[in-house]
Amino acid sequence: MAKILVFAELHGTHVKGVTLEILGKLAGHTVEVAAIGTIPGEATADMAKFGAAKIHSLKGSNLDKYSPEGYANALQGFIKAGNYDYVFAGATSLGKDLFPRLATKFDAGMVSEVTNFIMEGDKFSGTRPLFAGKCFAKVELQGPKPYFVTVRPNALGMNANPTAAAGAVDESAVDAGAIRAMIKEIVKGTSEKLDLTEANIIVSGGRAMKDAANFKILEDMANVIGATVGASRAAVDSGFAPHAMQVGQTGKTVAPSLYIACGISGAIQHLAGMRTSKVIVAINSDPDAPIFTKADYGIVGDLFQVVPLMTQEFKNLLGK
Ligand SMILES: Cc1cc2nc3c(=O)[nH]c(=O)nc-3n(C[C@H](O)[C@H](O)[C@H](O)COP(=O)(O)OP(=O)(O)OC[C@H]3O[C@@H](n4cnc5c(N)ncnc54)[C@H](O)[C@@H]3O)c2cc1C
Repeated sequence: MAKILVFAELHGTHVKGVTLEILGKLAGHTVEVAAIGTIPGEATADMAKFGAAKIHSLKGSNLDKYSPEGYANALQGFIKAGNYDYVFAGATSLGKDLFPRLATKFDAGMVSEVTNFIMEGDKFSGTRPLFAGKCFAKVELQGPKPYFVTVRPNALGMNANPTAAAGAVDESAVDAGAIRAMIKEIVKGTSEKLDLTEANIIVSGGRAMKDAANFKILEDMANVIGATVGASRAAVDSGFAPHAMQVGQTGKTVAPSLYIACGISGAIQHLAGMRTSKVIVAINSDPDAPIFTKADYGIVGDLFQVVPLMTQEFKNLLGK
């Protein structure tokens, strides 16, 4: 049996959803988890519920703030000592920054941003979108182990019937080594909402929003249905929304259960970032807008009329 480690990312008292998605997908295998720092009880319980046999809390100096060098050095030592065959993480901003560096340290194979995978015995096989999601490659790993894999958040979905495991917590001392570039401060965005890449529902606005203030109607809808607000590049370039909200080839890649595109034409570069959404709803005044060819549901109409009506209807349905 392959020895598998999942690198867990914590967010306050919670573990990020993608960590649980990976654990759920690995049901039937003995899987260990490692996270940097103290792991809150709630996160420990969730990881045990989704099949973590052992949960390693990695502690050492200079690890209180994320630094790619420090985390990579610390994990390198831990992975080597544990002799793991596979190491998984979410393809989050941190995972995308850390894992290639880690794989390089081992001169090992890595697969980035898989949207699905299977482990048959010791053999990994994954699916990876290519050319902005226009085609999918089947990928396998070879050469010396350990192998590194990052998984796109929301792509696997949660295992509805996870197999629980012991989730025994164990503390290990790790060494961050020499850090040449130290992160002094992390300034968080003002929004309390889930980051776009983790959001289960996204309401996005395009150039048709006309003004930053008009995003309020999308925020209102998002608040009712528990969504995060995104934007097209045209909206971002026009100054209606910050770049952190941009979905697409040069923005964020998202895979929510529901993506509501408001006044977005459906350019290839926008589709690149959201085409793997489970259900796409498009609101556009132009019946020939390309977004309708990708949408599961389309509403031809003026978003300034349709969005408030939908918000009201959601409120009625949800009793809010
Ligand atoms: C290298 C490169 C990278 C890029 N990266 C990205 C990226 O990451 N993300 C991205 O989004 N784009 C990206 N783009 C830009 C992309 O090509 C499009 O220009 C952009 O997506 C268009 O944004 P939009 O749909 O909001 O605007 P438009 O294309 O102008 O579409 C606006 C839509 O709103 C509709 N509309 C107008 N008024 C209303 C109304 N009242 N109610 C309803 N609908 C209305 C119109 O019919 C139209 O379909 C990139 C381009 C390049 C060249």
